[in-house]
Parts: sequence; C-alpha cells; structure tokens
Amino acid sequence: MSSIDIGIDLGTSTVLVYNGSQGIVLREPSVVAVNTKTGETLSVGAEAHEMIGKTPARITAIRPLCDGVISDYKMTEAMIKYFMKKACPSNVVKPRVALCIPSLITGVEANAAVDAAGAAGARSVYLIEEPVAAAIGAGLDISKPNGNLILDIGGGTSEVAVISLGGIVASRSVRVGGDEFDSAIIQYVKKKYNLLIGDRTAENIKIEIGSAYPYEDEQPMEIKGRNLVDGLPKNMMLHPDEVREALADSVMSVLDAIRTTLERTPPELSADIIDHGITLTGGGALLRGLDQLISKETGMPVQVAENPLDCVAAGTGKLLENINTMKELLSDDDSKY
Ligand code: ADP
Ligand code: MG
Repeated sequence: MSSIDIGIDLGTSTVLVYNGSQGIVLREPSVVAVNTKTGETLSVGAEAHEMIGKTPARITAIRPLCDGVISDYKMTEAMIKYFMKKACPSNVVKPRVALCIPSLITGVEANAAVDAAGAAGARSVYLIEEPVAAAIGAGLDISKPNGNLILDIGGGTSEVAVISLGGIVASRSVRVGGDEFDSAIIQYVKKKYNLLIGDRTAENIKIEIGSAYPYEDEQPMEIKGRNLVDGLPKNMMLHPDEVREALADSVMSVLDAIRTTLERTPPELSADIIDHGITLTGGGALLRGLDQLISKETGMPVQVAENPLDCVAAGTGKLLENINTMKELLSDDDSKY
C-alpha cells in the first residue's frame, strides 16, 4: 500500500488531475450528462461531452462549472467521484487531495466541492486558490515579497491576481473567457453574413486564425454554417482581421480586469510587476498576440507560461508535495478532514 497525493483542477472547460509521481494523469471535459426526467447522472467527462448537442430531449449534457457556479451538489459530487476513481488506483491509501476551483465559486458551493472529494475517498482535502496554483505551476517563485501578476483565462472565467509572499494582494475575476470568445465569433458571423455556425466551428476558427493583435501571414479560413436567409448549408471565407474585430470587446473586458487589479495594487508591488511582468496561463493565453496586446496596453513585459493549460493542475500537485513548507500558502480553512 502506498500513499498518494493528487491535485485536481476543476476548470470550467476541463478537469485535470495531477498525481505526484506521474504528473498529469487525467484530462477530460467538465461535463455531466443527466436524465432530465429522473435526475440520474448518466455519464461524466469525455463520454458526456460526446453527447452535447446530440442528445434526445430527456438527456441534457451540462457543464456544471461553466458559468462559474456549482448549482447542483449532486452533479459536482458525481464529477469529482468519477475523476478521483479514475485517477487513483484502488490499491493505494486514501489520497490527500488539493482541489482548485474558480474563485467566483465561493462559500456553500466551494464547501460542497470539498465535501464531495471527502465523500469520494479523500483522506484530507485542501482548497487552493486558483491564481496561487497557476503561479506555482507557471514556475513563479511566489514565496518572496515580490509582486507577481498572473492572468489565467479559462473557458468561463478569467482571473487576475497580484501575488506576494504566497498570498493574493489584489485580484479580480470576470465571467469572460474562451467560451465568450467563441460566442463573439458566432454573433459576428451571424450579424455580418447571416450565417449560423456552431460552437465547435467557432472554437476552431478562434484557434486556427483568431488573434488579439495583427500577426504575419494572415490567411483567410473556409467556414461552414447554415444560411439564415434560405436555411441551406453554406461555405464562405473568413479573414483573421474579422475574427480580431469580433473578439475585440471580450479581449477588452480582460484588459479592464488587469487595469482594475493594477489600480488596487500597492505601489511597491507595482514597481515589482514592472520588473517581472505579467504571466499568462489557461487556454485563453494561447490566443495569438494576446501577450503583445497586453504588453502594449499596460507597458509591462508579458510572458505566456510554458504549457499554460496545465499550470493550475501542476501547481496544486506541487503545493501538496511541499505541503509542510508551503502550509502558509493554503487557504484559511485548510484541511477539512
Ligand atoms: P478551464 O480552466 O476553465 O477549464 P482552460 O484553461 O482549459 O479552461 O481553457 C479552455 C479555453 O481555452 C477554451 O475556451 C479553449 O477554446 C481555449 N483554448 C484552447 N487552446 C486555445 C488556443 N490555441 N487559442 C485560443 N484559445 C484556446
Ligand atoms: Mg483553469
């Protein structure tokens, strides 16, 4: 029997599980499929994701964390139990679990998530603040009295925080993230071309040719959708310029969150941030030219973390490995079991 520590990043788009000895062992969509008649959970993760948009009326695929709200304790519990079971072999001692959930989820809902991990077999559960985990996962040394500004852009939320001496000094969370980038593209194409495109097409467009700042060799992309005038399928070419225009307002909301956070930062730490710059994590950090735009608008150096999608999960795992030295970095309620 060996003991095991696992870190869980309960993201709005993806759940990642980090296991101390093996690194990231699980990466699945944060989706639950339920039977609307009975309330029964039918499937979780990748399997449930397959059902989105293709389900008969009595089955709904739900992303419980998508809007940054855990509304259904049972669904969250089902998700946490499923992922823990999948990530932990049965021949190990009950794991210690570090759990990271979006900051917009607070109080009762956060406690529900912690309880769910306990019910799913955790020996002890630590709730970790997302920006702290993101910063550690990005390789920043947050134990020093230096200001570090971290921006994590997930699917449903973006979080900005200034961290010093292991704690959050100033922060701001907004319900704008990659999902909103996708819907902005959908709205733009609908309004300008009367063409209706799906969520996955929009996400593909964003990843293929989306940007926050002009880039070299911009090539148009062929997109497919339904013509709203005659109802027939239609192909057309979309230019990166247009996608940038579609994304501008959402990107601006993220920039505003950075500005607000900087305004709330004590001057000594602001001076540090000018030296160290801003670190970007989360899937949204991969939007082309976002670093350049933020740097231009704030006048500070900006770097995208290595493997931005994995930072939070890796950070939770690293925190657990060093739990004794890092104890002061854990949130006040600390271990619940
Ligand atoms: P969460 O932590 O909320 O689960 P993630 O950090 O996993 O979210 O990021 C998911 C978001 O990142 C999605 O909206 C996805 O479309 C977006 N994303 C992933 N890769 C890219 C990319 N190359 N360019 C732009 N956005 C991306
Ligand atoms: Mg995340």
